[in-house]
Amino acid sequence: MFRLFSVHDSFDQQHIWHPYTSMTHPLPCYKVRAAHGAVIELEDGTQLIDGMSSWWCTIHGYNHPELNQAVQTQLQSMSHVMFGGLTHQPAIDLAKLLIEITPEPLDRIFYADSGSVAVEVALKMAVQYWHARGQAQKSNFVTTRSGYHGDTWNAMSVCDPVTGMHQIFGSSLPNRYFVPAPQSRFDGEWQADDIQPLEQLLAEKHEQIAAMIIEPIVQGAGGMRLYHPEYLRQVRQLCDRYNILLILDEIATGFGRSGKLFACEHAGVSPDIMCLGKALTSGYMTLSATLTTAHVAETISSGEAGVFMHGPTFMANPLACAVALKSTQLLLSQDWQARVQQIEQVLKDHLQPLNALPQVADIRVLGAIGVVELQQSVDLASFQAECVRRGVWIRPFGRLVYVMPPFVISAEQLKTLLVHMCEMIQAMGATA
Ligand SMILES: *Cc1c(COP(=O)(O)O)cnc(C)c1O
Repeated sequence: MFRLFSVHDSFDQQHIWHPYTSMTHPLPCYKVRAAHGAVIELEDGTQLIDGMSSWWCTIHGYNHPELNQAVQTQLQSMSHVMFGGLTHQPAIDLAKLLIEITPEPLDRIFYADSGSVAVEVALKMAVQYWHARGQAQKSNFVTTRSGYHGDTWNAMSVCDPVTGMHQIFGSSLPNRYFVPAPQSRFDGEWQADDIQPLEQLLAEKHEQIAAMIIEPIVQGAGGMRLYHPEYLRQVRQLCDRYNILLILDEIATGFGRSGKLFACEHAGVSPDIMCLGKALTSGYMTLSATLTTAHVAETISSGEAGVFMHGPTFMANPLACAVALKSTQLLLSQDWQARVQQIEQVLKDHLQPLNALPQVADIRVLGAIGVVELQQSVDLASFQAECVRRGVWIRPFGRLVYVMPPFVISAEQLKTLLVHMCEMIQAMGATA
């Protein structure tokens, strides 16, 4: 009893909003006092093996000495300076590296402060692009169902309408075009008719559409689905045929998570606009980037406004850029592909056998992402209490129990994490 009390905080419960929680019936939140490597340490000393990478971010784990050092070094010279009329080396060095490692011909970059804002920026770029070309009527967007692109207004408008609860927001939310989520699985056969709905929609509506936005290969928070690379290849072809820009949201998938540095590489496709975030700083600071081509950037600049109409206060924050640079260098300096492949193999070995259980609907594994889709929703509060009792950290949503551990997780830690995850899923069958 005392132990449990010490890891929850009543002030927090009464006054602080957590993501997607009620203020009258908040689910318990565990108080963390420290985190290191792949371990989160609670107030009472309980150690949890992290299966979530703090939502895709902490690829190098917590409290990494080199990343700590990068922040400290930058702190000695300046923590922030406005980006209007001023620039600095961390922003320049990071831009050089990101342009080098992202697909060609992306070579213009806009820094912002969160993934959602990077998506807003991408959507605005597309609208300004067509406005500058004298086609202002091309101002709407098309996307697939089961997508997730963030929680700000326009990012939300392209999230799945059901899981994003679009009906609550009514006419205040812009209406977008939705096609069904891709049905061909990443590990299955390509079904040629999968692309039909998009083809039909573009044939009819392309004159009103500025861009298609989609998460490449991995649909994250909208359903943890993995789709066939051929879908993305055909999306690219259709966008070209119908004069529509392609925005790829790599915020969750970027920096190796799917086994490629960027998930679009699975399809050999490059976008007109790409959004990065999450693992960009390995979870140290909030930072995002929207990259585009010289063609898009120059067209926008030739338009009526003559400029791109966005400029966040914390644009290109030097501390964030410095740690992002170090994090990306650290990733590239190691054999990260072998690391992610090892994690993938262990995920497959442990999770695939669960397919035989009646309570399991599907198993999906790609890179350092492992998903168990259940037949029924998980009771979050009791699931997490059991996780904490067992010393692991997994946060399911709905019918999805999934892990995307930090790349630094040891073989032993990963095995422990998965053994507990599997036991908990097995136990659900016994009680159902
Ligand atoms: C998390 C996420 C976002 C939003 O990023 P925030 O930093 O939470 O605003 C956008 N797109 C995808 C694919 C994401 O996973």
